[in-house]
Amino acid sequence: MRLVLSFEDEFSFYAGQFVNLKRPDGLTRSYSIANTPAQSNTLEFHIKRLPNGRFSSWVHEELAVGEKLSVSEAKGACHYLPGKYDQPLLLVGTGSGLAPLIGIVNDALNKGHSGPIRLYHGSRDPEGLYLVDEMQALAENFENFDYTPCLSGEHDCEEFTKGRAHDVALSSAETLSGWRVYLCGHPEMVNQTKMMAYLKGASLSDIYADAFYTAAGK
Ligand SMILES: Cc1cc2nc3c(=O)[nH]c(=O)nc-3n(C[C@H](O)[C@H](O)[C@H](O)COP(=O)(O)OP(=O)(O)OC[C@H]3O[C@@H](n4cnc5c(N)ncnc54)[C@H](O)[C@@H]3O)c2cc1C
Repeated sequence: MRLVLSFEDEFSFYAGQFVNLKRPDGLTRSYSIANTPAQSNTLEFHIKRLPNGRFSSWVHEELAVGEKLSVSEAKGACHYLPGKYDQPLLLVGTGSGLAPLIGIVNDALNKGHSGPIRLYHGSRDPEGLYLVDEMQALAENFENFDYTPCLSGEHDCEEFTKGRAHDVALSSAETLSGWRVYLCGHPEMVNQTKMMAYLKGASLSDIYADAFYTAAGK
């Protein structure tokens, strides 16, 4: 679900950061921001519904247009850093991990990033890949931006690259020395890829990651 909140007071954030959304009964969950500050007075989120997930099911089934939510300040270091405009960027996301990466890609392109920007989005099933047309259109408009949607499950879908997004991404570059790497989504993918990117030459200070941990029991 694409959730867009508008706010009245000034809200400052970097594309790619996350906030904590709080329901009226106090239940709080973290969600990544999918838009850029240039799209003023709104915050966009991509919320995946988990079976019996308390917050995500509530957003999908009950949250209505016009209701108010409490929003924390923007958090996290997984965002685009202006400068080093020619540095190659590798972005890997699974599921709704695409949300912060879309913000980062748009921010980088808007700020004139000239180095290659490669985005890999992975899912097991075709239904988990979303905004495919929009991302393909963006890739057609910007020569330095490549977008590769990947399917890890057993599907005969010629449209998408077969394999796990992080495997496809890492095998596409001979070395990641000098690259900046962004990883978002499934915690196992994020933690594994962090290590693999480092072993492939990326400096630890150039690896930015948000693992979408769930808060069982809270
Ligand atoms: C920094 C950060 C950023 C995040 N950004 C996003 C985002 O942009 N979009 C987004 O959708 N989520 C995001 N999350 C996850 C989000 O915060 C919630 O944890 C998620 O929405 C589940 O909350 P819930 O209340 O619906 O589920 P809960 O009621 O908390 O239940 C979670 C339960 O679901 C189980 N579970 C976990 N994954 C699955 C699965 N794939 N299938 C079935 N069961 C599962 C867990 O074991 C747990 O028992 C982010 C998390 C973090 C830490």
